[in-house]
Amino acid sequence: MRHLAILGGGPAGYVAASHAAAHGARVTLIDPRPLGGTCLHQGCIPTKVLVESCVLLEKFKRAEEFGLQTVGSISADWSKLKQRFSEVVAMLGEGIDRLMENRSVTCIRGYGCFIDEDTLRVADKVIRPDATLICTGSFPTAPAGFDIDGAFIGTSDDLLQWESLPQSILIIGSGIIACEFACILKSLDVDVTILASGSRLMSAGDKDVSVVLQREMRKNGIKCIFDCRIERVVREPEGVVAYKDGQAVAVAERALVAIGRDANSKNLGLESAGVAINGYGEIVVDDLMRTTAADIYAAGDVNGRSGLAHAASAQAKLAVDHFLNRHCTPIRDRAIPVAVFTHPEIAYVGRTEEEAKRDELDYTVGKFDLRALGRAHALGEISGFVKAIVAKDNGHLLGLHIIGPHASELVHEGALLLQRYGKAEELRATVHAHPTIAEAVLEAVEDALGQATHKLLSKRQHHDILQFS
Ligand SMILES: Cc1cc2nc3c(=O)[nH]c(=O)nc-3n(C[C@H](O)[C@H](O)[C@H](O)COP(=O)(O)OP(=O)(O)OC[C@H]3O[C@@H](n4cnc5c(N)ncnc54)[C@H](O)[C@@H]3O)c2cc1C
Repeated sequence: MRHLAILGGGPAGYVAASHAAAHGARVTLIDPRPLGGTCLHQGCIPTKVLVESCVLLEKFKRAEEFGLQTVGSISADWSKLKQRFSEVVAMLGEGIDRLMENRSVTCIRGYGCFIDEDTLRVADKVIRPDATLICTGSFPTAPAGFDIDGAFIGTSDDLLQWESLPQSILIIGSGIIACEFACILKSLDVDVTILASGSRLMSAGDKDVSVVLQREMRKNGIKCIFDCRIERVVREPEGVVAYKDGQAVAVAERALVAIGRDANSKNLGLESAGVAINGYGEIVVDDLMRTTAADIYAAGDVNGRSGLAHAASAQAKLAVDHFLNRHCTPIRDRAIPVAVFTHPEIAYVGRTEEEAKRDELDYTVGKFDLRALGRAHALGEISGFVKAIVAKDNGHLLGLHIIGPHASELVHEGALLLQRYGKAEELRATVHAHPTIAEAVLEAVEDALGQATHKLLSKRQHHDILQFS
């Protein structure tokens, strides 16, 4: 039986352990903390539990619009919200422990590091596995000049521990974590100001999506200051102050620093093992997650390729497949969906229109607004759209971008197609249930291919029809 050691028990490490053990490997899983990693304890799960309470709260506030009479008022209780996510985290953590037990994975509590290429040390134990998979994840970036004290100026890890919420907060950053927390906190009645270094929110996604997100956030009372690269955040008598070019630009009771995450590659003895890192401290891997050292793999946030939990798990399974000489299907990074749990929700997969332009592709765009959908009206969520980008020459789907309810579920229609280099026509030919938001995916693709069923004809189209009929 071949022996795999895994450093780190997050969505990369514990998923690798489960996969390897299920396919006949002896597995040792090493982590100093309860299994589940950032995803379970400080990331995906606690934040999504909070998002769900906020979605419910916002719906309750609109009860009358839905024909419901309310008696009394509704408000959020931060300590009870924290209690709920702690319970969910504990329950899911137990599930992971049970899974490891079920697979006969040996779990060791402690920090692991390399003594040399073939040998690991965890406290006073020495392990000589046939291969090692490094899944030590990442931690929040905290640049010099940001006086992070955890209590007034904190990262997302700190915020989830806060005993109470402030009346006002500066959020430094404009990516997924910044935007998700902005929506959560605003919904919990915190006065939120986003300080973004660039000219738009969610700049990794499609520009049209950012425009709608910014509009909706503004409507909800979230302030955004753009082109504002903060160099210093400090506590002063009047509150937490953010500085740009030596000038104070914003002040609030507290600040959340959400400007990115760094790979957790220090103190692992990587040099002794011959594992190379790049300039950002990320472990260098090839498409099979092999590092520069023989029989050492790295998956998840620590290799800097994605920063998403599901990508971490997929990479980890691929590394295990290679180790066990199983069939390996390299991951198509472009087919990895991204879900952002803002309000409205966002999800996308594949190229943005800006990327399609940059790559000089010949493409066509189809778009369908949710306000034309029955289900969107029933949900009372008509802001948003689906946008499909399709290659003109071969009809392949290049990208799918969704902003609106259930976006994180719907995006998989596009992910499936992108994974198999499929044609948009396949999606168009698939009958979609009514009334659903998924119909907007169908209509957007129809629009890209010629004409969406429920989209009004333009004057030009009317003219063409008259001319050629
Ligand atoms: C606020 C927030 C919200 C997020 N929301 C989402 C989301 O909705 N969807 C999504 O896809 N992603 C989300 N993410 C990102 C996601 O959490 C990460 O991409 C994911 O956790 C990475 O998994 P990983 O296994 O690579 O690392 P991690 O989950 O960070 O796990 C690394 C593990 O390694 C252990 N470790 C560290 N050093 C050692 C050592 N020397 N020896 C042994 N073990 C060690 C750590 O204790 C930890 O348990 C979010 C992140 C944050 C911060």
